[in-house]
Amino acid sequence: MIDLRSDTLTLPDRPMLETILAAHLGDDGRLNAAGRGEDATVNRLEDMSAALTGKEAGLLCTSGTLGNQAAVLTWCRPGDTVLVNDLQHLDRSEKTAFDPRFGQMKKAIYHLDANFQPDLAEIEAQCKTGKIKLLCLENTHNYTGGTCITEASLKKIHDLASQYHVPVHMDGARLFNASLYLKTPVDQLCQYVDSVQFCFSKGLGAPVGSVLCGSRDFIRNAKETRKLMGGAMRQAGIIAAPAIYALEHNIQRLQEDHDNCAACAAQLQDLKKITVQKHVQTNILMLDVVPSGITPQEFCDRAKAKGLWIRPIINTSVRLVFYKGITRQDALDAAAIIRQLDAEL
Ligand SMILES: *Cc1c(COP(=O)(O)O)cnc(C)c1O
Repeated sequence: MIDLRSDTLTLPDRPMLETILAAHLGDDGRLNAAGRGEDATVNRLEDMSAALTGKEAGLLCTSGTLGNQAAVLTWCRPGDTVLVNDLQHLDRSEKTAFDPRFGQMKKAIYHLDANFQPDLAEIEAQCKTGKIKLLCLENTHNYTGGTCITEASLKKIHDLASQYHVPVHMDGARLFNASLYLKTPVDQLCQYVDSVQFCFSKGLGAPVGSVLCGSRDFIRNAKETRKLMGGAMRQAGIIAAPAIYALEHNIQRLQEDHDNCAACAAQLQDLKKITVQKHVQTNILMLDVVPSGITPQEFCDRAKAKGLWIRPIINTSVRLVFYKGITRQDALDAAAIIRQLDAEL
């Protein structure tokens, strides 16, 4: 079975797991005067992450959801309005900030333009209302198929938002994929946002964890928020050590995933019924199966019967995700299965 459901399926290899046995551990929940915990491995990971993103400080979180939601709940208060994209993970999948039981925030919406860049005119119109307390971006953008926000767009967005004193949070679950595609270093992209979250547990291949980065003051407050959300940890060096390994070994190899994704897409350019994402950028490939008259779920069931495990995403689409452990042959075999399904529709 070729499993392309998500890049969260990466499994830690032996050298990555061995870093856990050698990690210096301590109680990360016990803070010194500077607000740092006692787990040296966590501190090292947070410092490495801060350096990579060009921020003053980092905060290890158990998940991307916790990192994003801790950020929103630190920037905003109940009743505040948060400006999000209409297909943003932070809203569609995570929801905490907007849930009446939790964050109790209101939501304003902007869209992406034809080039998958946030629509500046919409953002400006929203900022002009004076109600927006935070602008959220997503890079790469999951539900549009791993598309990237360019440095030029980020700069324009930052200039606009600062004019209205609106901070910007970037959900960079797949930030390193964006950096690789754009050929722009991560810190260069992050200079235009006030806080950023990225995941160790997606393409980077670590089993657990995300990090939230920002200014020292912001991270001190976010640490309080994380604690309120039950996210303070103890000997979390056992999750930080594989994440350090991931940063040291697995960033450049993301290119293989992009290449495999492109190779799969290249085989799918002349299908009869299925619409295939144009301009694949990173490790995600979207198929629109609705024109064929069957539901995404039914399409996935048929694919699974032929040895390809994929999942519906949003309403009309099916998503293929390429990651460490998926070979070029897997990518070509997956394409062959989809071609066969298309021929049978
Ligand atoms: C996976 C993902 C997250 C959240 O990560 P979890 O670790 O699953 O909570 C956030 N944003 C985007 C775009 C993602 O793809």
